[in-house]
Amino acid sequence: MPLGFAAITERAPVIAYLGLGANLDDPRRQLSEALERLNAAEEVEVTRVSTFYRNPPLGPANQPWYVNAAARVRTRLGPEELLRLLQQVETALGRVRGERWGPRRLDLDLLLYNGEVIFAPDLVVPHPEMHRRGFVLVPLAEIAPQAWHPVLGKSAGDLLSELNPADRAAVQPVAAA
Ligand code: AMP
Repeated sequence: MPLGFAAITERAPVIAYLGLGANLDDPRRQLSEALERLNAAEEVEVTRVSTFYRNPPLGPANQPWYVNAAARVRTRLGPEELLRLLQQVETALGRVRGERWGPRRLDLDLLLYNGEVIFAPDLVVPHPEMHRRGFVLVPLAEIAPQAWHPVLGKSAGDLLSELNPADRAAVQPVAAA
């Protein structure tokens, strides 16, 4: 990703948390590749990754199950730059690869960034749905129960404990291959 010299040198590294989800036919591989690509970016170091969890699809039951995970990254990228990197990886891996394979879907969300609250036209942090989603909170609380939601004033562990038990129970670790 081309970045100006100033963008790399002026910022001290910060901690951000990402949510990852995929529901193609090999979603675990999709998530692993996304994490490898993020870690390969010069300005990003993936420092912790949760267990992969499977999560039933919302809506029609004939959709494939989602696999979700959370990751902690250490980065010198600003929040908008990090979002652009996430979108580049989504496009690179989630692109339509031709009729034989059909569309692939990969979602990368910026959940928390350096304890900041951001309301930009293309970026809202903390992610506005994160506190309602078991498939976000279960992996996030696994790797960072203390991670702080600066708007709600609660930790990821607190938010998970407040979640509807059924939503929480629906998110189960993916069985080892
Ligand atoms: P989705 O299709 O659900 O992945 O949504 C992608 C859109 O959400 C993009 O246009 C982003 O600019 C926007 N967006 C806003 N806040 C966030 C966030 N915290 N993480 C990821 N995408 C975000």
